[in-house]
Amino acid sequence: MSELPFDIVTPNGWAAALDAWPWSWLKDDQGHPIGAEKRGPCPNCGHGMSVSLGITEGITDLPSHTDVSCNCAVKHAEGQTGCGAHGEIGVPTP
Ligand SMILES: [Zn+2]
Ligand SMILES: [Zn+2]
Repeated sequence: MSELPFDIVTPNGWAAALDAWPWSWLKDDQGHPIGAEKRGPCPNCGHGMSVSLGITEGITDLPSHTDVSCNCAVKHAEGQTGCGAHGEIGVPTP
């Protein structure tokens, strides 16, 4: 089976599909949020990928969106990470 070629053209709805994945909060031992992450199958290549953000409680100038790209462990092309799909997804607030 051959893998999808690396392609920086992202299919429509890729970021929207990631937006629908639930965030899991990472907390320190006092229960304060130190980051958030989500994982799932990349809507483009189907391989497992993850998004993680460092978010600390009290930050008030968080951007509303962040750029993410597929980071699956499969080599779609030499020297590249993921399949090339990328987009902007919403950032959660602690
Ligand atoms: Zn992949
Ligand atoms: Zn992918």
